[in-house]
Amino acid sequence: YELKHFVIPDHYTDDVDKLLIPHGVVIDRIEKLAREITRNYSDRLVVCCVLKGGHQFFADLVSCMKKLPNREGKSLPIDHDFIRVKSYENTASTGNVQISMTEEELCNLEGRDVLIVEDIIDTGRTMEALVALLKKYKLRSVKVASLFVKRTPLSNGFYPDYVGFSIPDTFVIGYCLDYNDVFRDLDHVCSISSVGIKKYMSKNKTPS
Ligand code: 5GP
Ligand code: MG
Ligand code: MG
Repeated sequence: YELKHFVIPDHYTDDVDKLLIPHGVVIDRIEKLAREITRNYSDRLVVCCVLKGGHQFFADLVSCMKKLPNREGKSLPIDHDFIRVKSYENTASTGNVQISMTEEELCNLEGRDVLIVEDIIDTGRTMEALVALLKKYKLRSVKVASLFVKRTPLSNGFYPDYVGFSIPDTFVIGYCLDYNDVFRDLDHVCSISSVGIKKYMSKNKTPS
C-alpha cells in the first residue's frame, strides 16, 4: 500500500516504513473470525486478553462476538479477563516469559471455556508457556486466537486455533502492537523505518 494514501499521525510520519495491513482490512478480518469463534461455543465463555498488545484485537473481537449467534443460534455470554505477559525488548524476544496471573485468578478458571486473545505469535514461546500454565488448572477448554502469526524459522511449532493473518518475518507495529511501548496509537499495521528504530530504541536494552 502507498503510505501517502492513508492517514498516519503526524508524530509518526518519519517512523513508518511500509503500510502492511490497513486498519479497515484488520477490522474486516476480525468480523469473520468472530463468526467462526462464536459459533464454536454454547456456554458462557471467558475471553482472556493478553496485555498490552492484544487489547485492541480483544476490544474489536468481543464487540463483534456480542452481536453474533453461538452454536445454538443464541447469544453467547462473554466474561472478560486480562493478563499481562512480557518477553520482548526492542524487536527481539528475550526468551524469558513473565506471566502476571495470581494463583487465585488461575484457580477461578477451573471448569471454564477460555479463549486467549493475543496480538502476534513469533517464536511461539509466550503462548506455549501460557497454555502450559493454564492446562494445570483443569479448564474445560483452552483455545488461542492470535491476530497475526509470523512466518519465522524460529517458530517452536506452536500454532493458534484462530489466526487473523499470516505475515512475513518482519517486526510490525500499529493496532496496539508496540515497539518499546510506542506506536500503539497507530491504527494501520506497519513496519518501522530505521529512523523510528533509532528514535525509540530502549535505553535499558538487555544484552542477548
Ligand atoms: P513469541 O513468544 O511468540 O516469540 O512472541 C510473542 C510476543 O512477542 C507477542 O505477544 C508480542 O507481544 C511480541 N512480538 C512478537 N513479534 C512482534 C512484532 O512483530 N511486533 C510487535 N510489536 N510485537 C511482537
Ligand atoms: Mg503479545
Ligand atoms: Mg510488546
